Amino acid sequence: LNRRLAEFGTTIFAEMSALAVSTGSLNLGQGFPDADGPEEIREAAVRALRDGRGNQYPPGPGVPELRTAIAAHQQRRYGLSHDPDTEVLVTAGATEAIAAALLALVEPGDEVIALEPYYDSYAACIAMAGGRRVPVTLRPHEGAFRLDLDELRDAVTERTRLLLINTPHNPTGTVLTREELRAIAELAVERDLLVVTDEVYEHLVFDDAEHVPLATFPGMRERTVTIGSAGKTFSFTGWKVGWVTAAPELLTAVRSAKQFLTYVASGPFQYAVAEALRLPDSYFEDFRADMRAKRDLLATGLTEAGFEVFRPAGTYFVTTDIRPLGESDGFAFCRALPERAGVVAIPNAVFYDHREAGAPFVRFAFCKRTEILEEATHRLKSLT
Ligand code: PMP
Ligand code: GLN
Repeated sequence: LNRRLAEFGTTIFAEMSALAVSTGSLNLGQGFPDADGPEEIREAAVRALRDGRGNQYPPGPGVPELRTAIAAHQQRRYGLSHDPDTEVLVTAGATEAIAAALLALVEPGDEVIALEPYYDSYAACIAMAGGRRVPVTLRPHEGAFRLDLDELRDAVTERTRLLLINTPHNPTGTVLTREELRAIAELAVERDLLVVTDEVYEHLVFDDAEHVPLATFPGMRERTVTIGSAGKTFSFTGWKVGWVTAAPELLTAVRSAKQFLTYVASGPFQYAVAEALRLPDSYFEDFRADMRAKRDLLATGLTEAGFEVFRPAGTYFVTTDIRPLGESDGFAFCRALPERAGVVAIPNAVFYDHREAGAPFVRFAFCKRTEILEEATHRLKSLT
């Protein structure tokens, strides 16, 4: 492995899912639903396959039906208007969108500011692009992980090229508020920074939280690359359909990188995702209500099991502090957990440069069937 990638090794998600399989544990580690998305959308994929739509290379930027549906979704939900031909790009999941955006926009030596804990592919892709990551740490405050805007401002230097934002935030479940997003937008405009914003959990916000795309703030449309995912929004993580929306100049740059990564992917699934994006509002409402109920179930169960729980405002993850259990090392805790309780979770420390800051935090995914969540919390209660 070359020097740029030497520190990365195997992603924690592969390691922990393998551990779940080899130990027969309940997998609350990797974030994928254990119930597939809507039947009618699966049928749409089958129809596309049968009818011969997408079985050969689809167009590089994505099939027109899907690009149109993505633009319509951004318009309907957020009032953002995008030209499907010049401002929308279909990617092999959000993962490729992140990679293509960073490879296209970062010069070697540029600094990229990312919220810490950060999703693991951010660090690897910044490294592949030859950039330098500058983490700004979200810190626990009154039951949630919060961004310190002064710290963010102080992190910007002459070398800063790009802010990499993620809201709703994996793994903490934090949803940045409208005021925080406005401050980020003002900073980006003032310091003339590009922004890549990973909004794959856009539909998973609970209670009073609201998802506001960064691209909707003044001065942001021209400097923001927005990323979405059908895997997350429709519970088809294996289909690997994601997308980018951005102004033409930025979109063209990201497309240039994307064409040499996968070129294209997921032909028939692109047609099915176009249908999914046109589902009525009730689909999105039901999805959110279902996940909120699962959040409540798991958060309550983990609290009863003795964890300190950071009740997430968004995503399908809950971060916990294991110190009330008399533990302090999340890595050791997660490695031992399958043996001790038959459950797999993710140590948040892997998402930190400042590993000690993340050491006591452990993430559980709740995008799992109710009976699995009930059994997992039952088992976790045996820890104390
Ligand atoms: N961004 C975040 C924050 C994620 O949690 C994930 C993982 N699901 C991705 C991007 C990747 O999404 P996809 O599966 O569409 O590649
Ligand atoms: N995004 C998912 C998670 O955070 C996993 C995706 C992956 O395995 N790369 O758990």
